[in-house]
Amino acid sequence: MIRKTRLFTPGPTPLLPAAQFAMAAAELHHRTPEFRKLCERVLADLKLFVGTQNDVLLLASSGTGAMEAAVSNITSPGDRVLVLSAGKFGERWAALGRAFSCDVDVVSAPYGETFAIEDVRKALRIETRAVFMQATETSTGVRHCVPAVAELLRSQRSDALLVVDAITGLGTTHFDVDRDVDIMIGGSQKAVMIPPGLAYLSVSDKAWNSMEFSLNPRYYFDLRKERKNARKAESAYTPAVSLIAGLGAALDFIAAQGGGDLVQGRIALVNNAEICAAMTRAAVETLGLTLFAPIAPAAAVTAVLSPPGVDSGVVVKELKQRFGATITNGQGEMKGLLFRIAHLGYFDYMDTLALAGALEHVAVEALQLPGFALGQALAAAQRVYAAREMLLGNRAACPCGRDLLRCAHKPVEARA
Ligand SMILES: *Cc1c(COP(=O)(O)O)cnc(C)c1O
Repeated sequence: MIRKTRLFTPGPTPLLPAAQFAMAAAELHHRTPEFRKLCERVLADLKLFVGTQNDVLLLASSGTGAMEAAVSNITSPGDRVLVLSAGKFGERWAALGRAFSCDVDVVSAPYGETFAIEDVRKALRIETRAVFMQATETSTGVRHCVPAVAELLRSQRSDALLVVDAITGLGTTHFDVDRDVDIMIGGSQKAVMIPPGLAYLSVSDKAWNSMEFSLNPRYYFDLRKERKNARKAESAYTPAVSLIAGLGAALDFIAAQGGGDLVQGRIALVNNAEICAAMTRAAVETLGLTLFAPIAPAAAVTAVLSPPGVDSGVVVKELKQRFGATITNGQGEMKGLLFRIAHLGYFDYMDTLALAGALEHVAVEALQLPGFALGQALAAAQRVYAAREMLLGNRAACPCGRDLLRCAHKPVEARA
């Protein structure tokens, strides 16, 4: 059979054709009224997508550039900061804090888990200047509970800024950004369906104020300079013009999914990721495989442990060679132990079911998992899809909008 090439990776993610066309057609100079018009519209739409009234800025960099900008703009050498870490991207926050000479406290959880809120409370100090976390830890497939951390900061009357790497959280998680988050960071190659190279972030008034006193060095990522330019729908340096055009088309697509309303479209995109993730989890568990993050799974990506004694690279390779589907291996020391399947952005029911079907063949023929017949994992995914309304309606009790069974907010007891 022929094979179509498909990405099931948590960044870069599959590209939206309309965005690719918009990028190909974007022959315009950035100091022109045409570009300013595009930029103004994209910034306004991006605010709706992020769900904020605050300033939103675009940076020509990968997501990590915006993470660095957050650290360098709001901290001074010697500042105490708190990093909540449970994987490779949490560790990146700690490394960035140290690179900018901050005193970094870390609350960590084992890979595959989320941290206990009680541990965060204990680690928070009066002088903690900022708390850095991920909304979803892409390396392990875990969702952290942003509202629980925000609530903790409020209840402790902390002055700390809350900075959230929502690079795979945006478009997969419901947030109340303006109530909970000071700096919220996104990246182009994730849920907004365009290639890598563009980062975006929203910045609260409190965060802007803190920049008046922060002393760490910054030049390219000087957010105050970018804000001044963004208000004229420009940027300090040459912007990623074609990516911005692609982003405009992607936001149009997302709005169309919500009947023309971008906020509804964003909600539909999040729900879509939730359903694709739940279908995948059901399929994988039916195969007898073990979820790496069963308690607080992200909707962005599902991490699955390879069967004992089997390198997860086998699954990656089989899916690629036999079905043209690219998934990702584990990162760092998790390489070989787990594989990851993405759901954020331009994935739908058809993609999800097809991947589950391909995985069945890999399980039976390459992994030789016992006691399993073709079709069982597909049936499990189908049942989840059929029950999707229930799945989405069943989560009122947690502040992060998850159904309680799956919520990261749950493990609030201190770790022993
Ligand atoms: C993809 C990703 C990043 C950004 O990585 P870049 O390679 O710099 O774009 C950061 N955090 C998370 C959670 C991610 O998934």
